[in-house]
Amino acid sequence: MYLENSFEKIKSFDPEMAQLVIDEEQRQLDTLCLIASENYASPLALGLEGSVFANKNAEGYPTNRFVAGCELANKVENIAIERIRELFGCEHVNIQSMSATISNVAILRALLKPGDTILSMELNQGGHLSHGAPFHYSGKMYNVVQYGLNKDTEEIDMEQVEHLAKEHKPQMIICGTSSYPRLVDYKRFGEIAKEHGAYMLADIAHPVGLIAAGLIPSPIPYADVVTTSTHKTWRGARGCGVIMCKKELGKKIDSAIFPGLQGAPKMDMIAARAVQAKESMTPEYKAYQQSVLDNAAALADELKKSGLRLISNGTSTHLVLVDVRELIPSGKQAEDVLASVGIVTNKNMIPFDPQSANVASGLRLGSPALTTRGFEEEDIRHTARLLAKALKNYQDEDILEEIKGEVKELAGKFPMFADKWLAR
Ligand SMILES: *Cc1c(COP(=O)(O)O)cnc(C)c1O
Repeated sequence: MYLENSFEKIKSFDPEMAQLVIDEEQRQLDTLCLIASENYASPLALGLEGSVFANKNAEGYPTNRFVAGCELANKVENIAIERIRELFGCEHVNIQSMSATISNVAILRALLKPGDTILSMELNQGGHLSHGAPFHYSGKMYNVVQYGLNKDTEEIDMEQVEHLAKEHKPQMIICGTSSYPRLVDYKRFGEIAKEHGAYMLADIAHPVGLIAAGLIPSPIPYADVVTTSTHKTWRGARGCGVIMCKKELGKKIDSAIFPGLQGAPKMDMIAARAVQAKESMTPEYKAYQQSVLDNAAALADELKKSGLRLISNGTSTHLVLVDVRELIPSGKQAEDVLASVGIVTNKNMIPFDPQSANVASGLRLGSPALTTRGFEEEDIRHTARLLAKALKNYQDEDILEEIKGEVKELAGKFPMFADKWLAR
């Protein structure tokens, strides 16, 4: 085959670049990744990226291409769409957008006029920048009104959502989060949107894998449009945002992606996503997602035992948001200290955070990546204890050096992708 042994050939032609890939693989193996938005794509989900479909221009959609030679590309795209429809039980699928962020921009352009009102969750309370942050396209082109969390429960304040919808009469209500450990009440969002004649957009970029496995509720019955990424809990590679919507919105949304925002689709990535969707229907996949949930619960429990405060006092998903200030002054310092011992995380604002975004008081942690490597509850608890010990001893170089050794030893016991999760 044309691509056979391609890495060997690159090694001899461009050893500098080949070495960076080898080193990155080693870095991913030697460290413990707790970044909630990262995962290790399965070799199946990643497998067809860079295949010969990368050569094919398939501008347009399977029903209407602008170049010849698309017969096989059409089959690929139609299979991807059909599998995603089956997996989520939705009416219409667009698989051409390059990311979840671009998907959201396309939805706004398809369904709203500039200056229309969007009601969405505040970035600092767990929302996403593409839901109307002032520096993003969505925030510049529309009138954005934002809801947040109830201060006591640290869960989404649905009464505020209702009240703001009544007061501002938005054309669109957006739900879906990036750093929120609890479930979103899609049913209630749907009712509020319906009552006020607004479109409901549910962005499930984070929990999509748990939804695909049927372990947490899906927004499909309630939302007009659902957008997602493919690389977080879903466990595919990055790229190819997926849009799912009601049939009657399909045409408008398709044309907002192409020709409204993009040119020809990435057919090799679409082929890889078709494999990913097939993989998502297997028993191995469902078992993986259950383990993601169990590991997140164990992570939350162990962190609490170490004296850390968790936002909303725990998790119902793959994600935990920690207030680090019992042990270390800021999220920034926590991220840096943990990185120095090989635990990879990201600082994150906590609700009503008194510190700025660049400093922050929290860490966002997630179980998907370590679960992919095969970590079980006891391994996750071990990881949580190492993390808390590093934070407690952030000024003690000797102890940090010791922890670094332990992290490398623990990480070294696991492959990048556990064999038990490989669908057959
Ligand atoms: C991560 C995330 C996105 C962005 O996904 P990309 O594919 O990286 O653009 C969009 N929305 C939410 C809620 C996210 O968490």
